Amino acid sequence: MNTSTSPSLVVERVRHTLQVRRLTVQAIERVGANFLRIRFAGDSLHDFVSASFDDHAKLMLPAQPGQPLVLPQPGPDGLALPPGAEKPAMRDYTPRQYDNAARVLDIEFMLHGDGAASRWAESAQVGDEVGLGGPRGSFVVPTAFDWHLLVGDETAIPAIARRLEELPETAQALVVIETADAGDRRAFDSRASVQLHWVETGATDALARAVAALTLPAGEGFAWAGGEAASIAAVRQVLVGQHGLDKSRVRASAYWKRGSAGHHETLG
Ligand SMILES: Cc1cc2nc3c(=O)[nH]c(=O)nc-3n(C[C@H](O)[C@H](O)[C@H](O)COP(=O)(O)OP(=O)(O)OC[C@H]3O[C@@H](n4cnc5c(N)ncnc54)[C@H](O)[C@@H]3O)c2cc1C
Repeated sequence: MNTSTSPSLVVERVRHTLQVRRLTVQAIERVGANFLRIRFAGDSLHDFVSASFDDHAKLMLPAQPGQPLVLPQPGPDGLALPPGAEKPAMRDYTPRQYDNAARVLDIEFMLHGDGAASRWAESAQVGDEVGLGGPRGSFVVPTAFDWHLLVGDETAIPAIARRLEELPETAQALVVIETADAGDRRAFDSRASVQLHWVETGATDALARAVAALTLPAGEGFAWAGGEAASIAAVRQVLVGQHGLDKSRVRASAYWKRGSAGHHETLG
């Protein structure tokens, strides 16, 4: 498939100065059967920047539940902890929305039950403290593409919801999301024209099969996918192999990997 070199369709990589912020839980809201939206507050959010829906920030939690939260700080050799301090548990999360003036940031947690971050979110209380590192950089996909394909499992719902809110009314979005629990399906706000497909969790290639069954629109498009490593690798194969998308028009990321803690990998 030919790709145009129009400047309005060039993906931009933006670097940000790394900051580690200490934030406090201000509010907790259930937004799905297995989803909590947690609002964090802190004066240091006055200059928080997240330039893309694809961004992640590092949530930092006490190394062991109940221990004091000791945060690393950026130094000449990267993040450094005070001598003798135990490294906090760190997991990647999408900045769902933020307000610099109000100094608040929302993150939506999928409660999958079996991990430091999921367990922390499930028992979080107003007033609890966390650390937040980054985002360090942003992969900014122009909104000017003729069509946008957004694919993922529950962990990608916050990024997909944010992207759909950001797209203009001229955009066309195809969305394919896999959920294990129908209670995590929701309506999305968007000015774009959105075609939404929900997929029931099944075999590893359930998402890939759903993507293979799509008829992609004509024109210049960009495909984004985030979710479980093997599932997203299969999706990427379909996008590049079957649909013939140019690799530069695909961004596929492993947001987690079955059996492995804190996994994040760009698959292409
Ligand atoms: C760029 C990026 C953005 C992300 N944004 C979000 C977000 O906004 N909201 C969100 O909820 N998640 C998001 N994730 C996914 C999240 O970081 C992982 O699910 C992470 O593993 C959760 O940490 P944990 O401590 O709960 O589990 P871990 O300690 O990392 O893992 C423990 C066990 O649970 C399994 N596991 C991890 N995640 C899941 C899952 N979703 N379902 C079933 N089993 C799982 C692991 O395979 C492992 O066996 C994002 C990931 C990346 C890389």
